[in-house]
Amino acid sequence: MKITVLAGGVGGARFLLGARQYLRDAGADPAADLTAIVNTADDLWLAGLRVTPDLDSILYALAGVNDTARGWGRAGDTEVVNTELAAWGAAWPWFTLGDLDIAASLARTAWLRDGLPLAEVVTRLAARWDVGARLLPATGDEAETIVHLAAPADDGRTELHFQEWWVRYRAALPAASFEVRGAADARPADGVLDAIATADVVLLAPSNPVVSIGSILEIPGIRDALGRTTARVVGVSPIIGGAVVRGMADACLTAIGVATSADAVARRYGSRTDGGLLDGWLVDTVDAGVVDALTADGIPTRAVPLWMTDPATTAQLVADAVDLAN
Ligand code: GDP
Ligand code: CA
Repeated sequence: MKITVLAGGVGGARFLLGARQYLRDAGADPAADLTAIVNTADDLWLAGLRVTPDLDSILYALAGVNDTARGWGRAGDTEVVNTELAAWGAAWPWFTLGDLDIAASLARTAWLRDGLPLAEVVTRLAARWDVGARLLPATGDEAETIVHLAAPADDGRTELHFQEWWVRYRAALPAASFEVRGAADARPADGVLDAIATADVVLLAPSNPVVSIGSILEIPGIRDALGRTTARVVGVSPIIGGAVVRGMADACLTAIGVATSADAVARRYGSRTDGGLLDGWLVDTVDAGVVDALTADGIPTRAVPLWMTDPATTAQLVADAVDLAN
């Protein structure tokens, strides 16, 4: 069974670990059957390096080299180079890049400068490990999220790169809107539209609906491909009991006028029968109260445990999503 997953960084990575486990348990080869379409709107240029946080979070997690305690980056990493760069004023002091991260970014930037598309660069980086999935950037073109602030920052700026808003200001400066700058001219990376068209099931990971999944959908052609695919499209709520599980996605939802609730996010994605995205939606058991209303409104919904505590638990969540798709 071919499964294509739309994913952001850490939530996407956890979900993919479960999807890989689900396919392995079913006797399938996830390297052939699991494709991740990964958000690239968090990417940035820093000290001359192309940095791709969501792709790296997923790569490191699938390779088993991620720092599970910290939740991001490589296990056992050090910060010698980043500290030097910050001392020179060549990097953002509030944006930590480990030395191993910097090595990955050097390799990536070198290959990009050689003229390779980002999708090929990702394949090369992933070839080092047995990741058991195909990783595709949503786009190889530069299209990055800009946050338009509701009120100017202390220094008078009215817009910030997403990473500055998220990491430096911890999403605490109220946002008026999000723009994926460059998206209108961006093309889906090679393989993306095909992975949607030929999937047996497409799953929306419980990633940030605005700046992870939402920004993937901004790349022209991707939303249409989701509308046309013969695969069922099933989403998993990143909101449990009216709160984000981790991170600050509520600040993003508030900015676009969507309540932090499992049903509001589903309605934002919309029913495929009405030109939206979803053929199905999974909420957590604590949110079982929204199942009937969403289902009546054209989004068949089930309540199952949504905590991705480990790959085995998450594999059951993926099984539930596939079951709903069928
Ligand atoms: P980022 O790019 O690293 O911010 O990660 P993503 O966009 O992929 O995922 C962030 C979202 O994952 C947050 O909104 C969390 O609420 C959600 N999330 C994290 N862990 C879990 C979990 O165990 N279960 C569910 N349902 N959602 C989760
Ligand atoms: Ca991200």
